[in-house]
Amino acid sequence: MNEMADILIIGGGVIGVSIAYHLAQRGLGRIVLLERDSLACGSTGRSVATIDLLTFQPHAVELYAKSGEFFDQCDKILGAECGFVETGSIVLAGPPQESGLLAAMQKVQAAGVEVQSLSIEALRKLEPAVTLDGVVSASIAPRAGYADPVLTTQALANAARRMGVDIQQGRAATRLRRAGKQVFGVETATGDIEALIVIVAAGAWSGNLLRTAAIELDLQPVRHPVVALRRPPHAASPRHSLLDLTTGIYARPESDRLILLGSINPDVGYDPITPDDGAGYVHDEYVLWVMERFVQRFPALEAGELTRGWAGIMTISPDWQPVLGKWPDCPNLYCATGFSGKGFQISPAVGELMARLIAGDPKASKLLAPFAPTRFDNGRLLRTENEGQAYGLLA
Ligand SMILES: Cc1cc2nc3c(=O)[nH]c(=O)nc-3n(C[C@H](O)[C@H](O)[C@H](O)COP(=O)(O)OP(=O)(O)OC[C@H]3O[C@@H](n4cnc5c(N)ncnc54)[C@H](O)[C@@H]3O)c2cc1C
Repeated sequence: MNEMADILIIGGGVIGVSIAYHLAQRGLGRIVLLERDSLACGSTGRSVATIDLLTFQPHAVELYAKSGEFFDQCDKILGAECGFVETGSIVLAGPPQESGLLAAMQKVQAAGVEVQSLSIEALRKLEPAVTLDGVVSASIAPRAGYADPVLTTQALANAARRMGVDIQQGRAATRLRRAGKQVFGVETATGDIEALIVIVAAGAWSGNLLRTAAIELDLQPVRHPVVALRRPPHAASPRHSLLDLTTGIYARPESDRLILLGSINPDVGYDPITPDDGAGYVHDEYVLWVMERFVQRFPALEAGELTRGWAGIMTISPDWQPVLGKWPDCPNLYCATGFSGKGFQISPAVGELMARLIAGDPKASKLLAPFAPTRFDNGRLLRTENEGQAYGLLA
């Protein structure tokens, strides 16, 4: 006889385990999660894992606000550490991004998140080593920071297991079993699993898996490299996590002497690949591009030592926003994918809202409606004004 599940989740990244945890909390029956390799082995384990608390996408504000509270209280909620470090997050804007930053701040403040404008003078006090050419305005979210993506995944998975979720590692779903308007579960190399509801949270592999159920979702896996720089002993480095919209880079402290850096310009460091290509290493041209921009802000760090770097896969959707929900012509098949480089920081809220959506909560359904997979067919792509300008997206 086939194995049975009420709800079957495919993918053991931070998104899959967050959904599993939140479903289990609601007691929604027998929940099985399949991970083809080991938990957090995909994008999650390679994430820079910054938690900015600020988004330029108005529909995503609630996802950021709810998740911020979760990371802050993780040890109380899950009884385990997620490695959250509060660095505060500063956004630097030039003239083209100024109004967008102000609008984003206002929306996020209205959702109860602490975020303020920062005068150039105040900014110099917080970051004495910074050079601010081209910067006309800035914001700070003092409670933002970063967490440990693997610890977070393990903490959510362990809490889910305690509530009875069956997490099976080393077992891949090889195809979705669909007939007409329904999925019936999945095939695996060691037998089929039947399920009433199937959730695809398979990161960069989601598109391939959905195709086995004759569903096309336009997702582009890309390779994104991260540069790690060790500051010289006497040079000051950024104290906060930084998003520099004027030069197109991010930076955050990793420890006392290590700084992680990367591009937010979609034309640099977001190279299309197929998910099984492997992410590979960090190319010299990319390091030069990132360093050139970073030392415009922190000239003393030109003498820093490039220690190591790594690359990981991100899954980009056509409007660079997550794809969350179900298909009207296959209503027991859900997906949570296409996070476009920002999935870690919203994973707690995504898990909660997906669980509430499946439980039939109309408020969750309303909050997630803008992210529905059908938006691409209906021409309802999410426009992210000003983030679009800043990142060169959606011109
Ligand atoms: C270099 C880098 C830096 C990043 N920085 C940040 C950041 O600073 N802040 C932020 O918020 N986000 C960041 N992200 C993005 C974030 O890490 C991702 O959005 C998030 O981890 C996605 O989680 P996921 O669970 O959807 O995907 P994944 O972690 O990729 O998980 C999917 C899982 O599904 C499994 N799987 C695939 N196919 C199958 C199958 N057929 N059967 C069973 N299992 C399967 C895979 O093995 C994998 O473990 C970054 C990503 C990268 C690569």
